[in-house]
Amino acid sequence: MKIILLGAPGAGKGTQAAKLKEYYNIPHISTGDAFRSNISQGTEIGLYAKSFMDKGLLVPDEVVIKIVESRLKEADCKDGFLLDGFPRTIPQAEALDALIPVDCVVNIDADHEKIVKRLTGRRSCKCGEVYHISTYSAANCAKCGGELYTRDDDKEETIRKRLSAFVEQTAPLVEYYGKQGKVVNVNGNQSPDSVFAEVVNKLQS
Ligand code: AMP
Repeated sequence: MKIILLGAPGAGKGTQAAKLKEYYNIPHISTGDAFRSNISQGTEIGLYAKSFMDKGLLVPDEVVIKIVESRLKEADCKDGFLLDGFPRTIPQAEALDALIPVDCVVNIDADHEKIVKRLTGRRSCKCGEVYHISTYSAANCAKCGGELYTRDDDKEETIRKRLSAFVEQTAPLVEYYGKQGKVVNVNGNQSPDSVFAEVVNKLQS
């Protein structure tokens, strides 16, 4: 199964990706995670991407497309993959279509004011685990013990800019993939388990 997870920042793409990856046994490819890993390793791509990410802007298409193209050519992607946070623009979607067309696009639709609350309270760990201060107040990750941090782009002002980038550049993808008959809409204003149940149910039918 070749799946794209589409949705605004904070709609729950990462949370659902972790569940779907296990369920379908396919690799999870997150361009945001790829950039954060480059940033922590201090690579040139990381430094370049950070200058856009910290402002709530999208990283230019050619950089993102190159990263995804080389990742999708790896052997573990042969039978399927889960793209989280890519494509985010029409040119990215066109580049992906030219390389490997996907089977379906899961569009997680969540209320933007709820998203602002979710993201300002989000605490992340380097291992990929994510918590919310309202339900987890410890300073360290329950899974690996790593120190939790607030992502630089999870500040309210930056979140609002990321949401505007989503509306302007990414939301048109719903229509783009709708024309291909590939969009599965799910309600992202529910608990992660309910969203997951809805996704699996709709993907199976
Ligand atoms: P995410 O973790 O998916 O929210 O991504 C964090 C940030 O990385 C985004 O706000 C963008 O600045 C950048 N980014 C991730 N994926 C893409 C993409 N497909 N196109 C452009 N920028 C991206």
